[in-house]
Amino acid sequence: MATQPMDFFSQAESLGVEELHLFCDPRTGARAAIAIHNTRLGPALGGCRFLAYPSTEAAIQDAMCLARAMSYKAAIAGLNHGGGKAVLMRPQHVPDRRKYLEAFASFVQRLGGRYITAEDSGTHVSDMDTIAGITPYVVGTSKDSGDPAPSTALGVRRGIEAAVKFWLRREGLKGVRVALQGAGNVGCHLVRELSDRGANVIVTDLKKAVVEHVAQRFKAEIVDPDAIWDVDCDVLAPCALGGVIDSHTARRIRARIVGGSANNQLSEPDVAKILQERGILYAPDFVINAGGLIQLAVKNADERRDRLLRIYDTLMAIFQQAGSAHQTPVAIAERMVETILYAHSEGKHSAIAV
Ligand code: NAD
Repeated sequence: MATQPMDFFSQAESLGVEELHLFCDPRTGARAAIAIHNTRLGPALGGCRFLAYPSTEAAIQDAMCLARAMSYKAAIAGLNHGGGKAVLMRPQHVPDRRKYLEAFASFVQRLGGRYITAEDSGTHVSDMDTIAGITPYVVGTSKDSGDPAPSTALGVRRGIEAAVKFWLRREGLKGVRVALQGAGNVGCHLVRELSDRGANVIVTDLKKAVVEHVAQRFKAEIVDPDAIWDVDCDVLAPCALGGVIDSHTARRIRARIVGGSANNQLSEPDVAKILQERGILYAPDFVINAGGLIQLAVKNADERRDRLLRIYDTLMAIFQQAGSAHQTPVAIAERMVETILYAHSEGKHSAIAV
């Protein structure tokens, strides 16, 4: 049976994506999609993924969904940025990574500053240094804010503290059991943040060596990747890839709280309702994982730290409103973002809706 071609215009429209750019460079073979979701608060800021995708459609879709998440993240964190995302298609073999990234940098340059790139899955600080040689529209180089993962982890830890206080009526993380999926850049910093505060961490990763290293370093327990859903714990922290919580896994989760760094954790919006019906408090990903974006966007160290710590207050306000309105935290957080964006388009820039 023939499959329907993907209608990118309809998809962009339904996600509210303002611009979608496709670039190719015949010299290096570099191919990239850059989605700019919204620029009402400022230039679009968001990372560049350098991953192998099963199809061009999947890559473009990923760029658009992630760009929307970045707009929501920037708005709720009170940043003067819109959301954007780049997806650089990773071929099986990359003969010259530097030239490939330079080609990508020239794509970014052509957008004249409407999109600012940064590190994301598959790219590193050294790649941002390469990109900075071609365009100024890049953050997170070794000369500025560097790797955003430690700040993302700090923000997630603050978010988990807020959820534990609100839902379990417990102060601090001592003795709280956290099951953590994905011990990568953010995951490994989050294990440290949690262990330092007395939480008991159960960790999993597809990469055996990675998970063993983290578990040994922080005295965490290890489980197989598929077993993470069945761990009897207080908090599940998804820190691997997006879309992992679907109608099936949502019914397997045994935690009372879900809060982690992964972007777009819910495979579809209705999954938030399944979690709510099961008495599981879900911390919206674009709120709890904003720490990395805050690090990239805010230059002043005191202001940056203050905004990172305030993730606690923003989430607490969302949980309280969700509780009294009998709505999901995602619905409340999305409404807050839409109010911020709308107020701004009316010329009344609002910082943060708490
Ligand atoms: P990463 O690639 O360094 O780490 C992800 C880890 O998850 C890898 O070690 C991988 O092996 C593991 N993994 C993948 N699928 C898995 C599965 N099914 N089960 C168990 N482990 C699995 O990425 P990262 O930078 O740590 O980011 C993690 C997530 O957080 C991503 O979704 C990313 O978009 C999001 N995020 C990252 C930042 C940041 O500052 N790096 C900021 C905001 C959001």
